[in-house]
Amino acid sequence: MLKKIISLTFLLTFYAQAFDFNLKPVKLSDELYCFFGKLEVPSEENAGNMSNSCYVKGNNSYVVVDTGSNYEFAKQTYEAMSKIAKLPVEAVIVSHEHDDHFLGNGFFKDIFNAKIIGPSTFNDKYNSNSKTRMMSLLSEDIMNKTRVVPVDVKISEETTMTISGKEFTFIPLGFKAHSAQDLVIYLEKEKILFAADVIMNGRLNSTRDGSVIGMLKAVDLVKSKDWKILVPGHGFDTSETAPNETEQYYSLIKQRVMKAVEDDVGAAEVSNIVLMEEFKDMPFYDVFNKRNVFDAYSELEFYDGE
Ligand SMILES: [Zn+2]
Repeated sequence: MLKKIISLTFLLTFYAQAFDFNLKPVKLSDELYCFFGKLEVPSEENAGNMSNSCYVKGNNSYVVVDTGSNYEFAKQTYEAMSKIAKLPVEAVIVSHEHDDHFLGNGFFKDIFNAKIIGPSTFNDKYNSNSKTRMMSLLSEDIMNKTRVVPVDVKISEETTMTISGKEFTFIPLGFKAHSAQDLVIYLEKEKILFAADVIMNGRLNSTRDGSVIGMLKAVDLVKSKDWKILVPGHGFDTSETAPNETEQYYSLIKQRVMKAVEDDVGAAEVSNIVLMEEFKDMPFYDVFNKRNVFDAYSELEFYDGE
């Protein structure tokens, strides 16, 4: 009996199922399919599925924009996409250096030797041995095979590239907005814009590594382009209203924090005074708002622009 139990346990461990992400691609246009991540912090329950990952279908291959938090997630997005069209993945684009957006890259490197295109600063921050926050946060089971893959093609200036018959324009912001270097990706002909985490909706953003003034500049840039579909880094709204919450949040934070500076509110008190109450029911409000207000204060204390 004991022997039976032992061998059964062994079998069950051996055949332990990978986490099932239960992924369904959403078709946004003839060439664009997206997997929308949950508006939650990464956890064992969502296995890090909390950012958007999209496939652009070209003439004879796919281009993937952001690959999520781990290898297994990327693998399952591809399994779902191959039911639509079994094409190879020629290139992967990294929108910015936060690890919920690029830790699936290893899958596409291993299976397709995909070209990884990303911000020019990416390889200064990471190499193939880097251990990121997500790797320590989620279990080894979930993060199995996950690794950082350095960028092959570094984008340091606005660049247009044709991949599988589609023209991609890469616009590195050149200033801090959500992160040190955010890459906006624009398909002018198809009127599709990927906004990186410069735009989120349905949840609060973080400017821990960014800037309020930069975010507002970035929103202006995004709004100046002619798009029909805007893919936010997180959030489900891809319509013309997609940038509104981000714009509203950062305009108000700027206005209110500058008023607090004028009123001689100290850095220690500012997060208790500027509450941004309009956003208090949103996911991530409790995680990020106080910090965003505090950081905005440091940034705006001696700001003398408009
Ligand atoms: Zn993100």
